[in-house]
Amino acid sequence: MKNTRLKQTDNTMIAPIGEDQNNAPADKSDHVDRYEPRSLDTPLIDWVRHYRSMGWVPIPIHDISAGHCSCKSNLDCKSQGKHPRVMRSDAIEATEETWRRWIRAWPNMNIGVLTGSESGIFAIDIDPRHRGDVSITELTQQFGTLPRTLTAATGGGGCHLVYQIPSRETVKSTANVIANGVDVRGEGGIIVVEPSKTSGDYKWL
Ligand SMILES: [Zn+2]
Repeated sequence: MKNTRLKQTDNTMIAPIGEDQNNAPADKSDHVDRYEPRSLDTPLIDWVRHYRSMGWVPIPIHDISAGHCSCKSNLDCKSQGKHPRVMRSDAIEATEETWRRWIRAWPNMNIGVLTGSESGIFAIDIDPRHRGDVSITELTQQFGTLPRTLTAATGGGGCHLVYQIPSRETVKSTANVIANGVDVRGEGGIIVVEPSKTSGDYKWL
């Protein structure tokens, strides 16, 4: 496999998550173990604990379990089931008791994770509805493959590739800048994560 790495700056490699640094074939069992629990029966609070145990900051997200976005702007919502219910700062300060209260209030909530410095991660968001699958194929043909890393299927049929941000670095968020349908969720961004559901399920792969 061609071992080309995505470079953030001239001498800084972006660290994959959950994969061998040398792009060796991943041990699937290790990978799955790391992302237990993954049962649909797993209570939301266990997902929250799990993400927090990884140093990530989870955040309550609106849902579309009633057929439209729970933000009540109904069909006018431009981000159905994908935008936060609370301020970023509230998510950062939340305790487990706060989370229990949120889950009681919004039992059907989707869950997101703050990207950027708060969680130390960024994600490449590939959206086939904006031809992101075509774009990423073209980019990898030109520049080489991306480092294998923690990956999730997204509700819209695309995927999130999640990477660790090296210390003292900042990754900006961009939309359709790298290429059509290829966004970067970095500073100030959010990714929706399992066990969320929009048009489809969010699921760690
Ligand atoms: Zn909404």
